[in-house]
Amino acid sequence: MAHIFSALDTIGLSHWDHVIFRKFDLQVDVLRLDQLHPVISGNKWFKLKYYLERAKHEEKNKLVSFGGAYSNHLIALAEASRLYGFSSAAYIRGEERDNLSHTLKEAMEMGMELRFLSRRDYDEKKKTVFATPYENHESRELLIPEGGAGREGVKGATEILSLVPAIPHAYICCAVGTGTTLAGLINGAGPKQKVIGVSVLKGTSGIEPVQRSWLLNSAPLENVFMIHEDHFGGYAKTSRILLDFMNRIFSESGIPTDFVYTGKLFYSIVRLASENFFQAGSRILVLHSGGLQGNRSLAPGSLVY
Ligand SMILES: *Cc1c(COP(=O)(O)O)cnc(C)c1O
Repeated sequence: MAHIFSALDTIGLSHWDHVIFRKFDLQVDVLRLDQLHPVISGNKWFKLKYYLERAKHEEKNKLVSFGGAYSNHLIALAEASRLYGFSSAAYIRGEERDNLSHTLKEAMEMGMELRFLSRRDYDEKKKTVFATPYENHESRELLIPEGGAGREGVKGATEILSLVPAIPHAYICCAVGTGTTLAGLINGAGPKQKVIGVSVLKGTSGIEPVQRSWLLNSAPLENVFMIHEDHFGGYAKTSRILLDFMNRIFSESGIPTDFVYTGKLFYSIVRLASENFFQAGSRILVLHSGGLQGNRSLAPGSLVY
């Protein structure tokens, strides 16, 4: 499928300098997927790409997915659908039709139909998609799992590393929501590269939420490290410590992060570095997976950018 991003060929690495990295002799490069597109940011394009292809192949005319009121996935889906000539719809968790979030308002303006469900109905509906994602041959709607978390999503995410110039990074790090992106990185990494996922969910353990069925048999799991301690209280939870940290990173390096995913990822990397987790002298690749639009739900003035 032809891509719409002129930036895809020139997407760059930003050097992230930090006093801790200097102390431990680490070079840190940030893959700036946040600069891919103003709406379809970060990892979301990669996760959607093969669903769009599937929809085209199966002559579907509508892409339907799931998400919450601030979902980066849904807003990316709305815009990608529009650009590729599909209509789109979303099941929204929670029945708060009044006072729509910026995210949902914008998605609606892009033509996305919003279908509100109670939490229970939403969870039921979501489960059926995970169980039988491609069952509905009659309908012209393609149902995409929440967060693009399925085989197509993983396949697209595997291509992310092809954007990185051939620098021998010993570590590849990303934030983990559904684990789809991490699964792609694990499948795409070289045999000696260590892959580190920072879970933004509370209560995950082991390689959760990554599903084993997403991983190639050859993927070396001994190179995979999941960090479960830097979720700051759970999904979309934040604190003054996190926001101050994000402001400091921006002031020092010019790299903006979001409070749901990448802020926690960056925080975790500095913490791990300070605890001597990374071998001294190593080069580290950090995936900036975008998501900056989500910062609009913070109280005004929380961030300096
Ligand atoms: C969606 C999202 C993630 C999580 O990706 P998964 O593939 O669901 O793990 C990480 N970072 C940002 C900015 C996101 O929007």
